[in-house]
Amino acid sequence: IEEEFDAIVVGAGMSGNAAAYTMASQGLTVLQLERGEYPGSKNVQGAIMYADMLEQIIPDFRDDAPLERHLVEQRFWVMDDTSHTGMQYRSDDFNEAKPNRYTIIRAQFDKWFSRKVRQTGATVLCETTVTELVRSASGKVIGVRTDRAGGPIYADVVVLAEGVNGLLGTRAGLRKMPKPESVALAVKEMHFLPDEVIEQRFGLQGDEGCVIEAAGTISRSMAGLAFLYTNKESISLGIGCLVSDFAQTMESPYVLLDAFKNHPSIRPLIAGSEVKEYSAHLIPEGGYKAIPQLFGDGWVAVGDAAQLNNAIHREGSNLAMTSGRIAGEAIIEIKGRNQPMIRRNLALYKTMLDKSFVVKDLMKYKDMPALIHTNSRNFFMTYPQLMSQAAQNFMRVDGTPKIEKEKATTAAFIKARSRWGLISDVVRLALAWR
Ligand code: FAD
Repeated sequence: IEEEFDAIVVGAGMSGNAAAYTMASQGLTVLQLERGEYPGSKNVQGAIMYADMLEQIIPDFRDDAPLERHLVEQRFWVMDDTSHTGMQYRSDDFNEAKPNRYTIIRAQFDKWFSRKVRQTGATVLCETTVTELVRSASGKVIGVRTDRAGGPIYADVVVLAEGVNGLLGTRAGLRKMPKPESVALAVKEMHFLPDEVIEQRFGLQGDEGCVIEAAGTISRSMAGLAFLYTNKESISLGIGCLVSDFAQTMESPYVLLDAFKNHPSIRPLIAGSEVKEYSAHLIPEGGYKAIPQLFGDGWVAVGDAAQLNNAIHREGSNLAMTSGRIAGEAIIEIKGRNQPMIRRNLALYKTMLDKSFVVKDLMKYKDMPALIHTNSRNFFMTYPQLMSQAAQNFMRVDGTPKIEKEKATTAAFIKARSRWGLISDVVRLALAWR
């Protein structure tokens, strides 16, 4: 391979592929390095893929991308040990010519995305781990060293798309390791079932899909969420909680996943399935306040490596694709002006990102991670139990006058949280949400 490129992209996940595609399709010489055997082999996602953000990179992606089902229904469940209280939205409007959200399987999707990157002329090398960033005497990042034989490879700019751990950036002193309260550890399984069984169980037709997002006692009072997504012939399901909570409670993710699968609301949906895949991965969940330095002399960070993840809406891949695309566009612009890839000029990436939904959304929820982290027992144990009791009390017809039932429900809430506690929870949640 050449020894000098316009840009080196570290990682071939969503953000790295978006950056490499954007730059190479505009004529920049791009080298992309991926440590996995093939792009996607190391990557884990639920996975919902948001079409709009991919459309901005590859407008006709629907022609050949490996898409599973387009989503027409979303269920939000608050669970206790034997029940769920749910909200559900389903609309035929989602059966549109260009659907808005799809389920995907990352191992297949990332391979497709990488093929598109190669077609733009970028050089993509797999089974190549970047071991070190190379710096000039002034400290500017000027290239990388890899675990392959040979010397350093040079580039005007290095795009760090290395995912949530960000070991390379951390080792180079460009950022700190994410804190345990800013990352969730998620485990996921793929359950295989015939497509007609999935369609019948979820009331789907053809390529329609349904997702369930669930929170409650299933996370044993830790801050966490579970999910179930329908693919064509499989169901992806998993659960994740903050690493700091796992460390404190000594709970095991596998035990939580087993409990979720055996919950009476979930068990019938996956009955008779064959489990073929199991994976575990971290998710950056610290939000706006956990975003590290995003650029410097000769480098930018994108996607999970920049902790760009909206845990409230369970969006990550779209922030990854958008930040990768914007970083690529900023680099193209700087190169077009014949300016060097130094900190002052690469600040353009941050300026452009600040104007996008990525930073605006994370800014909106900037206080949510701390609120959830410090109140996890209330949000994930006390309230789900109270909601279930209230719903059951409302529905069970046993001769108790309705006025007494309502008084009992109100009393249960006050006993659990006190009047002041209830008011303060509502106010703090409203303030953090606004
Ligand atoms: P990654 O996809 O992690 O890619 C990083 C790449 O860099 C990897 O391929 C890795 O092998 C490579 N790499 C790392 N270090 C090196 C190195 N030194 N040298 C070479 N290569 C290296 N997001 C959604 O939008 N929707 C969802 O439904 C959703 N569900 C999720 C469910 C789970 C269980 C998890 C864990 C995450 C989920 N996410 C979801 C988040 C989403 O997966 C991430 O936000 C997204 O993958 C980030 O993309 P990325 O390219 O930044 O990082």
